[in-house]
Amino acid sequence: MIKIYTANLLVDAHILKGLLESQGIKCEVKGEYLFGARGELPITPETAPSVWILDETNINEAKAIVQGFESSLAEGVSNNDDWVCKSCGEESEAQFTECWNCGSPHEFVE
Ligand SMILES: [Zn+2]
Repeated sequence: MIKIYTANLLVDAHILKGLLESQGIKCEVKGEYLFGARGELPITPETAPSVWILDETNINEAKAIVQGFESSLAEGVSNNDDWVCKSCGEESEAQFTECWNCGSPHEFVE
């Protein structure tokens, strides 16, 4: 078995496991037994949930899936960013393309 990914959140590890399995790659999530009913423990390298693939011949395919998964996580974070209207200074949520207050279009930073 080879560890392919260390997750910050248990749910992320399970999403990645689902992605890998949908491509026919057998894998396991380890570390989740440390998350007891009392709540979440602080994440350290020892307690973090990790995803392991069972067959190392799948390593390249699995790495490609991990890369795609990581970039989708990064996009998810930036999509949640609120933005500030340049015309009136009001904050709008990320899903709006126009200011809710004055209707100015959101100017994306390049
Ligand atoms: Zn505005």
